[in-house]
Order: sequence, then C-alpha cells, then structure tokens
Amino acid sequence: MVVMTPDAGEAEIQAVVERLETTGVHVMVLPGELTTAIGAIGDPEGVAELGLEGMAGVDRVVPISRPYKLASSELAHHEPTVVEVDGRRVGGGDTFCLIAGPCTVESSEQTLAVAETVAASGASLLRGGAFKPRTSPFAFKGLGVEGLSILAAARAATGLPVVTELLDSAHADAIHEYADVVQIGARNMQNYALLEVAGKLGKPVLLKRGLSSTVEELLQAADYILKEGNEAVMLCERGIRTFETATRFTLDLSSVPWLKLHSHLPVIVDPSHASGDRRLVEPLSRAAAAVGADGVMVEVHTDPEAAVCDGPQALYASAFASYAASVAAHASLVGKRLA
Ligand code: PEP
Ligand code: MN
Repeated sequence: MVVMTPDAGEAEIQAVVERLETTGVHVMVLPGELTTAIGAIGDPEGVAELGLEGMAGVDRVVPISRPYKLASSELAHHEPTVVEVDGRRVGGGDTFCLIAGPCTVESSEQTLAVAETVAASGASLLRGGAFKPRTSPFAFKGLGVEGLSILAAARAATGLPVVTELLDSAHADAIHEYADVVQIGARNMQNYALLEVAGKLGKPVLLKRGLSSTVEELLQAADYILKEGNEAVMLCERGIRTFETATRFTLDLSSVPWLKLHSHLPVIVDPSHASGDRRLVEPLSRAAAAVGADGVMVEVHTDPEAAVCDGPQALYASAFASYAASVAAHASLVGKRLA
C-alpha cells in the first residue's frame, strides 16, 4: 500500500498508479478522509524495485503482510465500511440490521405475508431464495425468475430491499435486474469465477462463509469481490462443520470479533442455518449482537411445518415481533438501534 501525503495532487497519484501498472500488479486508488492510499496487489518484489518512496507526493510504502489485502483492516486509513442499501445502513457501529424472510420463495401469498410481518417489526431487508443450492439434486431448487419477480412485488408492497442468492453466473442478468443485495451462498464462497461476476454486478454483496472455510479464506474470497471495484461487501458467519452434530452447524461466534478486528467490512450472523433449530435462533441472535455483529439474517415462515425448505429452523411469523423486540433490546445494550 502506497500512502500519499495529505497534499498530494491528482497528477502525483496518477504518476504512482502508472508506475505500478508497469509491473502488472492490480492497482486500486483508495481515497480516504485525509490521505489517499494506493493499493497494489501482486508480486511485492517487482514493486520494491520501483523506487516509489522517492516519488513526489508519496509519504510511505507499507507492505500488507496478511494474505487478504483489500478486506484487511491493515488498510489503516480505511474507516469501517458502511454498506448502504436503499438508504438502510449496514455497519458503522451504531445500527443493527435485521434481514428476515423465507428460506425460499414458494408463492406470492407466502412471500408477501412474511415480508409484511417482518417489515412491521423492524426488519430492514427481505431475504428469500429464488435459485436454491440444494444438497440433493432431487430437492426443490426454487422458482427461479418467477421467484425473483415475487420478491420484487414484496419489495413494492413493503419497501424492503431484497437479498437473494446468485447461484450461477448464468443467472447474473436476472439477479442484476431484481436483487438489491446479491447473496453468495456458503457453498459458493470458493467459486472464484462467480465472486468476480458478483463483484461486477455493481450491487452490494452478502458473502457467506464456506461450510469448512477459515476466516482468512473468507476474507480472501471478499478480496475477489472488492478487487472488481465493489466496496459494498458484507460478510456472513453462518456456522461451520465441526465434530458436533447436535446443531446443524457450529455457529462460530468468535469469528465475529475476529473479523471486526482484522477487516473493515460489516459482519452479519445467520443463526438459522447455523443451528437448524428455531428454538436456538433468538438466543444466538442476542449473542450475535453482544459480540459485535452488525446484524442478523434469519428465516421466517407463516407455516414452517409446510415449508418446502428449512422449516425446522424458520421462526414463526406470528412470533417475529417478539423476537425482533428482544434482539433490538440486546443490540441497544451495545449502543445500536435497529437499522
Ligand atoms: C441461504 O441463506 O439461503 C442459504 C442457502 O444458506 P447457506 O448458503 O449459508 O447454506
Ligand atoms: Mn435456508
């Protein structure tokens, strides 16, 4: 990272960018409050020979030692990233966001009923899958584009922006047309070509941690999106595989303060997929608020027993108001109000 002096001008910044580009590294200009930094990702030895320290307007050259670069809080002048979705803030330390909705869009009635319920109780974003990654190829895979248009209708009725999964680059145009936030599912966290496609869509991305991925791998996956010039990335802890089988996955709550320490990106917790059990969703949501998460994403259904997917972990829509009030109260203990 090349940190410029506070009075460095456009021409001096451009001269550094051009010299870096001669080595073939990936160059990104990162304007900050006081100074501009220039990130150069690639072979550090080639960069060391450029004599950047002697160039006009250059304050210092700082090697970024961690394997993740753009997602790293080592980009020291980088304030915590606040992702704005249609005026709703995620991150920044003073708000807690509730992302809620069905696992999958089943019908317009079901989706609209859930959307209205969660909107009335303080959710700031509506979740819902139209393209579903399923363990078995014989399970319900979602309504596809019809599901996206149902989500758009629910957004029109409630004002809630829509978070929905980009499962395959073949769906990129449809997702671009309908989604407000592009979700990358846990199973695709290491689908690097898909991450680049998501980065290019120009919409905020919710990146879920892989089922067996380390937090360092999660941040390197985030780098794939960030390097496309998309700074609106939210990380999502959704549980990992461990020897424990009592819960569906093991919610790694320690990843939340770790990520807040090592990255500037907002962190969301998904206690629904982590636990697989609706009775655990509220306590884990409160815990997420306590350890510094910027929000939670939870599944809600009007009739979980009849849900085509993930019924046992879906909160009853009729119980969502009391759930949201409890989570909001816990978020307020750490100085956050519902976004
Ligand atoms: C989801 O949130 O819809 C989902 C499929 O979760 P995950 O990718 O974490 O399994
Ligand atoms: Mn689900």
